[in-house]
Amino acid sequence: MTIKENLDCVTKKIREAEARSGRAEGSVKLLAVSKFHPKEAVLEAMEAGQKSFGENRVQEAVEKFEQIDGAELHIIGSLQRNKVKNAVKVASVIESVDRIELLEEIEKQCAKIEKAIRVFFELHTGEESKAGFESAEKIREALALFASGAFPHIVPSGFMTMAPFSDDKELVRRSFITLREVSQALKKEYPQFPLNELSMGMSGDFEIAIEEGSTEVRIGTAIFGERHYE
Ligand SMILES: *Cc1c(COP(=O)(O)O)cnc(C)c1O
Repeated sequence: MTIKENLDCVTKKIREAEARSGRAEGSVKLLAVSKFHPKEAVLEAMEAGQKSFGENRVQEAVEKFEQIDGAELHIIGSLQRNKVKNAVKVASVIESVDRIELLEEIEKQCAKIEKAIRVFFELHTGEESKAGFESAEKIREALALFASGAFPHIVPSGFMTMAPFSDDKELVRRSFITLREVSQALKKEYPQFPLNELSMGMSGDFEIAIEEGSTEVRIGTAIFGERHYE
């Protein structure tokens, strides 16, 4: 299967899941996760019409995307403070914000280059993954800082989670429900922010995520094939 065929196949499944769950057609966006795949794979996907990509590691993202025009890049992997400077240069969204200290650094680096960036709050909802804010309460604290004007160069735009890697579909579903419920509660408390995105669902679980309200699925393997970690 070519990358184009895979993209067509994934897109068809997304549209079917939207229809099945009474969601509007096109309400779920596809982020193609190109980590560990070469620049040529990204170009092939772009040739097939894909514009939005996700990368875990900043250095890899910079090397790949610096010379690619017209792609929209999201950082989706846990981010160290010293990588923020380069991250805000290449990315339009940082989905893996998991602590207030990181927001402080993002604000500082964006102010320097006079750029506004969108972020999602990552919530830890699955036992196995360690990533993300520990609780909704911690995200609420971050939003209170936004409300007091602490981060003028950052637009809080949504939420992200990774479900546990499990065959237990109900366990996976519960992760997605948790993120949706947290997002609904926080949107109500902070209506001034465009907290519209729910980034949830990967190759193995995106259809469940769409049923539970995902607005963006992050898909790597089903588009680019298996990753070979060196
Ligand atoms: C790698 C990764 C993905 C894509 O995973 P696949 O199972 O290959 O679709 C999605 N989200 C995050 C945060 C990732 O690290």
